[in-house]
Amino acid sequence: MRKISVLGSTGSIGTQTLEVIRQNPDDFKAVTLTCGSNIDLLYDQILEFKPLAVSVFDEGKANELKKRLNDNNPEIKTEVFYGEQGDITCATIPEADTVLGAIVGVAGLKPTYEAILKGKDIALANKETLVAGGDIIMPLVSRMGVDLLPVDSEHCAIWQCLWGERKENLDRILITASGGPFRGYTREKLQDVSLENALNHPTWKMGGKITIDSSTMMNKGLEVIEASHLFGVEVDRVDVVVHPQSVIHSMIRLRDGSVLAQMGKPSMILPIMVALYYPDRGPRLLEEFDPFDPKCSNLTFERCDTSVFGLLDLAYEAGRTKGFMPAVLNAANEASVGAFLKGKIGFLDIEDTVRKVYEEFLPRNKKENSLDDILGFSNEAFIKAGELLNK
Ligand code: NDP
Repeated sequence: MRKISVLGSTGSIGTQTLEVIRQNPDDFKAVTLTCGSNIDLLYDQILEFKPLAVSVFDEGKANELKKRLNDNNPEIKTEVFYGEQGDITCATIPEADTVLGAIVGVAGLKPTYEAILKGKDIALANKETLVAGGDIIMPLVSRMGVDLLPVDSEHCAIWQCLWGERKENLDRILITASGGPFRGYTREKLQDVSLENALNHPTWKMGGKITIDSSTMMNKGLEVIEASHLFGVEVDRVDVVVHPQSVIHSMIRLRDGSVLAQMGKPSMILPIMVALYYPDRGPRLLEEFDPFDPKCSNLTFERCDTSVFGLLDLAYEAGRTKGFMPAVLNAANEASVGAFLKGKIGFLDIEDTVRKVYEEFLPRNKKENSLDDILGFSNEAFIKAGELLNK
């Protein structure tokens, strides 16, 4: 029985993780759950999974939840925490073996860091943690001897392709991308796209922030940096391959030219299961992959047009520059995507703002950073982006 702390249990990955746990009660138990503010769903999850503790980032909502539980379900002994410390308490609870990191954004970094320090294995969906803090997280993972299990589907695919391969035989990583809803658009055409258009992802159903990141191609840029940390390669050894059918989840090329791919339906259930059951394999929960499905009869591959989707190039640039620049890039993007999701700015303002913040911070970049440095610069970049967005 593996005991899991699910950070971000009310989100897209969090609810799918709970589905895996629900379907496999002999193999997993959810011992803690956390969310930002969605206490209605968290309340239902508490009644169903009876975790030892939960945390709600918003203190007022946490108090509301506590009262609801006291009034209606006094028999339930789940402790309710709040804020960043609440996330950390849930991530480091002694009873958990594995932390499933599915908080959105850099808010996941500190709880992940603290969980590793307590010797937990980490099943990581929260890519922003590695983008901002990969230089701190990866050495800590080695030092603590814990497993970092990639849940992001492309990284889970690459990881599986690498099972049994010697690291020195890895030549290149070919990370696939659906291309998002605006594949083939010109820059002019992007000027008029709406929030609704951007949220309409062609193949994946995900949370709001990652869906917008997919539409700007920033998601792929973040994933390139994530892959460079997870698999110990420079970003220039990671190629982005636009593959609109989303059948191949990523590939690796080996020293002798062999190319290995991992394929399947576009569902996050499988990567979650691969991570949680590692090194074993769980039962099949999804409909079987059918190679005769018409979708598989025409698998296509193309380059991303970075003259249209400039954030992808900027992410490579941040990945080469290193230091705190990936954290700055990520924070400026989080602020801009947040504003776009609230309808406050246009689509192309995301890239403009991220680029301006990036350029402003670049002269101050330094190579060696503590976790506090990373979080400090990230916070500063978030605020700077907010100022530019409110002008
Ligand atoms: P969602 O927006 O659907 O869910 C985010 C979760 O994080 C929610 O439970 C939210 O709570 C919670 N949350 C937000 N802020 C905090 C906080 N400060 N403390 C605790 N919990 C918080 O996102 P996704 O599930 O789509 O994505 C989660 C992560 O996984 C992202 O980093 C994303 O890039 C990555 N990922 C997602 C994939 C997907 O298919 N969705 C695929 C691959 C990676 P609340 O509901 O209350 O707001």
